[in-house]
Amino acid sequence: MEVENVRVRITLACTECKQRNYNTTKEKKNHPDRLETKKYCKFCQKHTMHKETK
Ligand SMILES: [Zn+2]
Repeated sequence: MEVENVRVRITLACTECKQRNYNTTKEKKNHPDRLETKKYCKFCQKHTMHKETK
């Protein structure tokens, strides 16, 4: 049986300065909603929440 991995490219943007800092992929099956993760923002020079953008 073959499991289909549907990976989509997403961009993660800092929620504080709105800079798009990270390009990554996610599995749509596991994350049907917008991804939110804490990452280092070099513009804010600290860890901030990063949100998936289109
Ligand atoms: Zn930032």
